[in-house]
Amino acid sequence: MDCMTKREVTEKEREIWEALTGDDFSPIYEEADRIRQREKGDEVFIRAIIEFSNCCRRRCRYCGINADQRQVRRYRMSSGEILETAKQAIDAGYRTIVLQSGEDERFTGNGGEELAKTVRSIKEYDEDVAVTLSCGELPYDTYRNLREAGADRYLLRHETADAELYEKLHPCGTLEERLRCLRDIKALGYETGSGFMTGLPGADAVTTAKDLLLLKELECDMAGIGPFIAHPDTELAGAENGSAEMTKRAVAFARLLLPEANLPVTTALGVLSPREREKAFSCGANVIMKKVTPDRYKKDYDIYPADLQRTDIKRDRRKIEEMLEEIGRIPV
Ligand code: SAM
Repeated sequence: MDCMTKREVTEKEREIWEALTGDDFSPIYEEADRIRQREKGDEVFIRAIIEFSNCCRRRCRYCGINADQRQVRRYRMSSGEILETAKQAIDAGYRTIVLQSGEDERFTGNGGEELAKTVRSIKEYDEDVAVTLSCGELPYDTYRNLREAGADRYLLRHETADAELYEKLHPCGTLEERLRCLRDIKALGYETGSGFMTGLPGADAVTTAKDLLLLKELECDMAGIGPFIAHPDTELAGAENGSAEMTKRAVAFARLLLPEANLPVTTALGVLSPREREKAFSCGANVIMKKVTPDRYKKDYDIYPADLQRTDIKRDRRKIEEMLEEIGRIPV
């Protein structure tokens, strides 16, 4: 009960906290799987993610590409390279392209002009492909311009629902501003994705309960829930990683709270434990993302340590399809 005594905890938070830390979580896993099956069927969406710039103005303490990391080789893909990579992914069968980056004004400054051009060019190549952006906090007008350029979805994790912890981990921002962005994104008609890390230093199961309730309050269409992984070059080097079990429990709870949401099995969970990644598909998840970032850039998008394989867009997709078919799911 230690973490319950430190701060105000609502009844709802207590209920979730107790469930998350209970000995037998299997009934909740089963319920989450039933809801996933009822609401989403057996299809699993495979999304292609292009990490097009690792330049970032922010200083998030856990992140290996934050602006203070002098050892990082910074890169920006050209618009031509982004489009070429997106075309290869579309030709390999992907129906969603996720464009992710640090907070890089070269793309998002000036009302998002540069990024908007790229969104338009992907839509010109295939108007039925969904474009998801994940490029950080932006002014309302920029989110609007990008939406008008054709972007369909926006991912912006709230990271942690504990405002004090948020400010400790993010010297450049506040939870309030993060939530302002999420509400703007939602108001502009994007399919809106939030999410958080489990096991952040300073967080506990009550924080996770608050995180889950915040997803519900935001009425997220998508929620990315992944474990914190300590990066050896950041000031959180040596901190304990989040746990795969708590991450899966949080995903299952998110399915209970948001039955219709798209819930990915996050890359970070796969990095922590490849076997757990597959298991998460029976805990409520229905989405997986695959990096299609060209090899010459991939290792520099070093947000946390990961064992990276060479990219072969077609072969990598086929391998995921096979893995999904083996567990009885339908790749889309
Ligand atoms: N700049 C964009 C933003 O702020 O949303 C997108 C890029 S950011 C690198 C993508 C996500 O990586 C963050 O939302 C964060 O949750 C995750 N991340 C960063 N460092 C991490 C770490 N050490 N362990 C696990 N996840 C991490």
